[in-house]
Amino acid sequence: MRRVDLRSDTLTKPSEAMRKAMLQAPVGDDVYLEDPTILALEEKAADLLGMESALFVSSGTMGNLIAAYLHAPRGTEVLMHERAHTYRTELSGISAVAGAKPLLASGDRGILKREALEPLMNKRAIYYMERTSAIFIENTHNFCGGSVWNALELVEIADFAREHKLALHMDGARLFNASVASGMSAKEIVKDCHSVTFCLSKGLGAPVGSILAGDRDFVYEARRTRKMLGGGMRQAGMLAAAGIYALDHNIDRLAEDHQHAQFLAKAAKENPIFTQVIEPETNILFLHTDRPAVQIVEKLAQRGIAVLSLDAHTIRFVTHLDVSTVDINYVSEVLRELK
Ligand SMILES: *Cc1c(COP(=O)(O)O)cnc(C)c1O
Repeated sequence: MRRVDLRSDTLTKPSEAMRKAMLQAPVGDDVYLEDPTILALEEKAADLLGMESALFVSSGTMGNLIAAYLHAPRGTEVLMHERAHTYRTELSGISAVAGAKPLLASGDRGILKREALEPLMNKRAIYYMERTSAIFIENTHNFCGGSVWNALELVEIADFAREHKLALHMDGARLFNASVASGMSAKEIVKDCHSVTFCLSKGLGAPVGSILAGDRDFVYEARRTRKMLGGGMRQAGMLAAAGIYALDHNIDRLAEDHQHAQFLAKAAKENPIFTQVIEPETNILFLHTDRPAVQIVEKLAQRGIAVLSLDAHTIRFVTHLDVSTVDINYVSEVLRELK
């Protein structure tokens, strides 16, 4: 039986060519700033983002945590969407380590609009209320179905952040999916952000690692914070080499993953057991069903297809590098005929 794993784009395995690049990478002690491959990755990432500087971190979670630690003094609030990854699935590091509190806002597709944020700021002038220090936005927005911020939405949030003197951090775990889908360069997308993280270990296909970028002073402090958290690395150029390979080879092809998600959506629409098909903007597809989601997940598992139930009636499919068009055709067929 064919096996197709659509639980997450973190499941990709390094290709032969990527492994070869890893084996051949020159390395050194990165705590001493002597790993040439890590330094090359950081420079390449900063260039791609149009930021002064970048730091290789072990995960997106660590990048976001360091950003929170630096942008949000203890006891302050970080404004974010109620379905933000930083709120739901990062073990409350913002509170537990950075000492800040998430302030939650709602918004369609994970997009934060002024109307929803303004009322949350009104109380700020009162001396016994918390201060808000930062806004975290997510692009693409994972738990809102891989949605993408458009240029106007980004300008609006940047203006809002400026007016309220808030640091603006983008959790861009799938920043390049956002870039490929919107046609905006990564530079354009992040130009008004003080900091940004993106993951090398998701659709880009590297086995480990994320980037945290910002201005030179921010990244200097981020490097100190990473070390404090135990995230200093030694001869990790072998990992950075995978990151460089991913940036060189696996960005443009994300369009294929997006197309695959659309094929799946089209198939699901032909089956009435899926009561709502959320139109995929990138590589994430949400299907709603009146049945218990776990029941559908189990039926798909019996056909060799692994997916996740996100809540009682929602199923998430994530397309990625290791899923071929033949795989997608197979899954589409199963989605059409599932009873
Ligand atoms: C995966 C993800 C992260 C965290 O990345 P890890 O490398 O798994 O720690 C952060 N934000 C979003 C939106 C994600 O999807």
